[in-house]
Amino acid sequence: FFFKQKTAYEIIAGDWSSDVCSSDLFPSHDKARIQLAEKVAASGVRHRQVLEAIATVPRHAFVDEALDTRAYEDSALPIGHQQTISKPSVVARMVELLFKPKKELGKVLEIGTGCGYQAAILSLVASEVYSIERIRPLHDQARAKLRPFRIPNLRLVYGDGIRGLPQAAPFDGIILAAAGLGIPDPLLDQLAIGGRLVAPVAKSEEEQQLVVVERVSSQRYQRTVLEEVFFVPLQSGT
Ligand code: SAH
Repeated sequence: FFFKQKTAYEIIAGDWSSDVCSSDLFPSHDKARIQLAEKVAASGVRHRQVLEAIATVPRHAFVDEALDTRAYEDSALPIGHQQTISKPSVVARMVELLFKPKKELGKVLEIGTGCGYQAAILSLVASEVYSIERIRPLHDQARAKLRPFRIPNLRLVYGDGIRGLPQAAPFDGIILAAAGLGIPDPLLDQLAIGGRLVAPVAKSEEEQQLVVVERVSSQRYQRTVLEEVFFVPLQSGT
């Protein structure tokens, strides 16, 4: 008996109609994913690769089975340990902001793997992805959820993302899925020149803003403050 090794793309791309997963198993999901991508496009996201990734990654595979029916709503959902899977339109917006006009996305670092959904999205649009999670059970679950997809360009790391990942730096993109009071210095240091960091930053206990920082030269960073957002807090240590 011979199994053809499927690539991550073939599996994630929802080749559900073939031998691995019959489309009958997920009757509504293919359509639901496309509708989700349409909602995300309607929210203002334009980047084609990002919208394709939203239409491709099976979000239901990353949430608790009890929430399965809500997986394709454009809303944040609980993933346990007081954390949430981010809202798809916000995931897409932030990933889009990592891109520089007319350029491909190289090596990306994600802080806050959570359930692994955004990491899967990133793996489809960037050449290499590292994702760090500080809560061990979430890291383990994300690993288990991502394993069947056999994504070759994604590495999950257990640790404190505030320190970044010096051994894999510099990064062309850094994305934070949790809000700190500022942007940790190690992350700014690990950003490649010309690279972009996208993060929610807390202004006060209730207010957070989406911030984009581009490293213009080794000493210069350009900071742009965008819309208000709502994320779980960035916490230090493991
Ligand atoms: N991208 C995730 C969103 C998860 S919510 C998804 O698609 O599901 C944010 C995550 O950041 C939580 O899992 C939280 O535990 C994690 N987090 C918070 N502070 C962190 C830190 N210092 N290092 C690594 N992960 C952190």
